[in-house]
Amino acid sequence: MKLIRGFGVIAVFAFSSIEAAAGPLCAYTKAKSGSSHLPPSPEALRQTNLVNYALCQKYPCPNYQLWRSEAISNASATMDATGNRVSYNAGFMAGIQNRYSNYATIGIFGHELGHLIDFNLNPSSISGVVREARADQYAGCAFAIAGEPKQNLIYLAQTLQSLGTSPGYPTPQQRVALLEIGYDSC
Ligand SMILES: [Zn+2]
Repeated sequence: MKLIRGFGVIAVFAFSSIEAAAGPLCAYTKAKSGSSHLPPSPEALRQTNLVNYALCQKYPCPNYQLWRSEAISNASATMDATGNRVSYNAGFMAGIQNRYSNYATIGIFGHELGHLIDFNLNPSSISGVVREARADQYAGCAFAIAGEPKQNLIYLAQTLQSLGTSPGYPTPQQRVALLEIGYDSC
């Protein structure tokens, strides 16, 4: 099956804070430590546990908190002096899950955890495009470790495509290829 292109995720680097958020709509929107945040839903916890279980078998995962936040447009990963966290917008994730299935939202959480693993392994300054490429590969890898058929990545690929092209990201076509590379090389 040929995967469809797509996705969009952004990375912002400022001093000791490293931040990345999914989706061009939230480009450079940050989930600041002082912004409002809420406990995650049981479903979001379940989905992040799946990606934790997969990726943290193979890679050194930093401890992190999962936040539900209306201060961001979609999803983000943050690593700074206040700790590590993945934040998500509940409305955005519900819309993606309804439209593309929970494989898409699991994949987004895999991408965000991939950022934290990458930040942890490579804290020095790296271009945002490279950060995003690596996070996409981690998302693909999570599916491989979990034993999911590769075709289940199509829902994440469709999501990426729906988010379109954005500065600071690999192209949608590259990102779909990166998901597959991550799956195949994991
Ligand atoms: Zn990202």
